[in-house]
Amino acid sequence: MKPIIALVGRPNVGKSTLFNRLTRSKDALVADYAGLTRDRHYGDGRIGHKPYILVDTGGFEPLIDSGVMYQMARQSEQAIYEADAVIFMVDGRNGVTPQDRLIANKLRMVDKPVYVAINKVEGVDKIIAVSDFYELGLDKMYPISASHGDGIHKLIDDVLRGFKNAAEEENANADRITFAVIGRPNVGKSTLVNTILGEERVIAFDEAGTTRDSIYIDFERNDEKFTIIDTAGIRRKGKVTEKLEKFSVLKAIKAISEAHVVVMVLDAHLDIAEQDATIVGYALEAGKSVVVAINKWDHLKEDERQRIKDDVKTKLHFLDFAKYNYISALYKKGINELIDSIRGAYHAAFLKLSTPKLSRILSEAVNRQPPAYKGNFRPKLRYAHQGGSNPPLIIIHGNSLHTIQKAYTKYLERSFRKVFDLTGTPLRIEYKNSD
Ligand code: GDP
Ligand code: GDP
Repeated sequence: MKPIIALVGRPNVGKSTLFNRLTRSKDALVADYAGLTRDRHYGDGRIGHKPYILVDTGGFEPLIDSGVMYQMARQSEQAIYEADAVIFMVDGRNGVTPQDRLIANKLRMVDKPVYVAINKVEGVDKIIAVSDFYELGLDKMYPISASHGDGIHKLIDDVLRGFKNAAEEENANADRITFAVIGRPNVGKSTLVNTILGEERVIAFDEAGTTRDSIYIDFERNDEKFTIIDTAGIRRKGKVTEKLEKFSVLKAIKAISEAHVVVMVLDAHLDIAEQDATIVGYALEAGKSVVVAINKWDHLKEDERQRIKDDVKTKLHFLDFAKYNYISALYKKGINELIDSIRGAYHAAFLKLSTPKLSRILSEAVNRQPPAYKGNFRPKLRYAHQGGSNPPLIIIHGNSLHTIQKAYTKYLERSFRKVFDLTGTPLRIEYKNSD
């Protein structure tokens, strides 16, 4: 399991600088999904074979008790509560401030490892910079420079030391189709999980631990093995508690990071919310397959159905590769098709793309519509091969490829998708210049 690291500290100490440095390589990928404004507070990082999830809590302002700042402080507290470890950042050039002391007081009461990152100490005597901060009463001190990169590797290395290697666990589960049921409270997640499990043979059941944890349920269907990651927490028959659970972005993100397929559950009667976009953004960033399930499709008139279909497709246009399923979890409609979509999305992510076929599709696409000149350069696309799976990566070799426009890459993607059944999985395309 990927550990979650919360980054806290008062404003201006350098949190976003560190966050960007640690998650930078992934940012560019999401930028490719036009129209999806990414919530920049959650990101994936990796050191060696150890992946982790980093949460930038924004400005922690425990002094202010109303308005936006108050909301931010509450979010920070929730992030600290849900994280596995905390990096508390301070400004090494400023010394300890009253706000630092307040945050430290809070963190000393938290039952998880806290690492103090003393930032902006490039060109400063490290021992002196650190010694100021011992008064905070926290002992894991790391002098760093977020903007120069000094000391960061050691910091993250130590933060991750106590956690199991997530990559190894991933391999152990490679033969199960693991899907996470994600969505806002009340869209019908637990009803859906109950309906799916009502028809299948449940093998194992793992109770949730903390609020952040989801329940993992193994089941088999036609000799195929599945695991549901149930973020709602299954409600047993006859014991339906109507309490509205609090939506936790981190819980959703954690579930997504452990799933092969993300089943995004929406309520046909409700608009797409910002939270939905945040989660989808994270799923895309993590390269996960996605299936959209529009629930409560019962008792709707035909014209309403058409309007909702159009609306969802427009608003989620960056999910044009996903299969849309219109279901009723309560009346058990469309459930088999939904599971087939999940299977399809899983297998698509691991599809083998043959080199001759890829190169043929490429040359046909280029003949039909060559890339545009840029200045004196016309990109020359020579051949393609598969560079990875889950999600599939296609590497295209040639010359002057840096001048290729996004729209042209999208065109190539469509050409590949016409031939290979990649429904449900994102597809990545990279260029390799030979000149
Ligand atoms: P945040 O409000 O905590 O997210 O802080 P930012 O990341 O926005 O950084 C605040 C300011 O500190 C910016 O002007 C950064 O360029 C600067 N800064 C961040 N890290 C360093 C560092 O390692 N050294 C120095 N000298 N400045 C830094
Ligand atoms: P969760 O919070 O996402 O787990 O949502 P629940 O499964 O608890 O469902 C919330 C409410 O929506 C409950 O009253 C359900 O009975 C109702 N509901 C769930 N699925 C459907 C559906 O397909 N059609 C209708 N009409 N109601 C549904």
